[in-house]
Amino acid sequence: MDADLVVVGSGLFGLTVAQQCAERFGRRVVIIDRRSHIGGNAYSENEPETGIEVHRYGAHLFHTSNQRVWDYVNEFTKFTSYVHRVYTSHNGEVFPMPINLGTINQFFRAAYTPDEARALIREQAAELDGKEPANFVEKGVSLIGRPLYEAFIAHYTAKQWQTDPEKLSADIISRLPVRYTYDNRYFNDTYEGLPVDGYTAWLERMADHDRIEVKLETDFFDSSQPLNKDNVVGNVPVVFTGPVDRYFDYSEGRLGWRTLDFEEQVLPVGDFQGTPVMNYPDADVPYTRIHEFRHFHPERDYPKDKTVIMREFSRFAEGEDEPYYPVNTPADRDGLLRYRDRAKSEKGVLFGGRLGTYKYLDMHMAIGAALSMVDNKLEQHFTVGAAIQSGGVDE
Ligand code: FAD
Ligand code: UDP
Repeated sequence: MDADLVVVGSGLFGLTVAQQCAERFGRRVVIIDRRSHIGGNAYSENEPETGIEVHRYGAHLFHTSNQRVWDYVNEFTKFTSYVHRVYTSHNGEVFPMPINLGTINQFFRAAYTPDEARALIREQAAELDGKEPANFVEKGVSLIGRPLYEAFIAHYTAKQWQTDPEKLSADIISRLPVRYTYDNRYFNDTYEGLPVDGYTAWLERMADHDRIEVKLETDFFDSSQPLNKDNVVGNVPVVFTGPVDRYFDYSEGRLGWRTLDFEEQVLPVGDFQGTPVMNYPDADVPYTRIHEFRHFHPERDYPKDKTVIMREFSRFAEGEDEPYYPVNTPADRDGLLRYRDRAKSEKGVLFGGRLGTYKYLDMHMAIGAALSMVDNKLEQHFTVGAAIQSGGVDE
């Protein structure tokens, strides 16, 4: 086989590993992907009727505070000055998200100062009696109190996760900042923006290297294609970024994933909602949010009489559904520990990325983790011939 490394999955994790091994160690890398395009879930394409860039697997906003990751991604694309802001439509009224002083004052019909608002939330969180929050609900109530939790979080989360929030990890809600100012930026990171000429141009530039070959519509578990698991493992080092439970034939049980259904529409109006993302936190609306893609790129010359919107619905992944988000209940975490043990004894295979490590990774985290895998595992292998050592699936 004419490759020094096989990377399964052309998402940002796989692309980063491949690009680094080709560039830094002069190695020949073959990337395979079962889909018909590269880029994993960050892939986007222009909607044909309007030319508006649509993120195929849900809206993707790039943000990071990691200097190395920022410098690295800027080798492949420039970023616009886009700053993400989200609004939420509750009981026929629109509020700013994430929860900030504007949301609090609008909700309570008040004009609290930061200190007054803090005191109010502290009082409302007193039901926890100073106890360390142990799950999603307790963490939510401790951060914003019960009334705001019920209005903006409880039903949205029920729709999005379809899991008892007491079984969800507190980390999920900790992704959202709570601010006692009127700052309604969605992210806290130092750097933020969208790729100037789109995600796909960026992702293709990462793979554009003499020593990288990409094979699409190629499934690692399809024994009729030559780069399948049985042929490759043990012969050529592998970085696997597909689902870890699938790799081991679900021997330790299926890990719970959430998938999304997207309903896309081209509408004959110039502007549908006046903002890129509107959340719907009420129980009587079946979708969680609506994206309107033109607003991600106000600098582009898009048609003024048409727009593209996408409603997002969430449900458990079954069968061939795309696994998008790890549900990560306590039972899932037990299963993951068993898979990590199995991964440690899988010689010559490293597990990475969101699916390979069963972790809720943002793009910058996937890229950062891939750079660390290259530094900590693959550099030693390709420069001094060290054996490929998996530290498990928690790279
Ligand atoms: P993926 O992008 O999932 O790539 C894995 C690849 O492996 C896929 O292309 C898949 O086809 C391939 N594969 C799987 N199994 C096989 C197989 N058997 N054989 C061959 N190929 C296989 N991050 C942000 O920073 N900002 C956001 O706003 C954001 N929004 C998101 C919204 C949604 C709906 C989702 C799902 C994710 C979002 N993310 C966001 C996260 C971002 O998509 C991930 O961080 C990034 O995609 C991780 O890259 P990856 O390479 O680990 O995985
Ligand atoms: N969330 C919510 N209401 C909102 C936005 C978010 O309840 O209006 C909760 C929900 O549980 C979600 C989590 O906060 O899973 C993290 O939100 P984020 O926007 O980071 O989710 P993602 O980008 O992954 O969809």
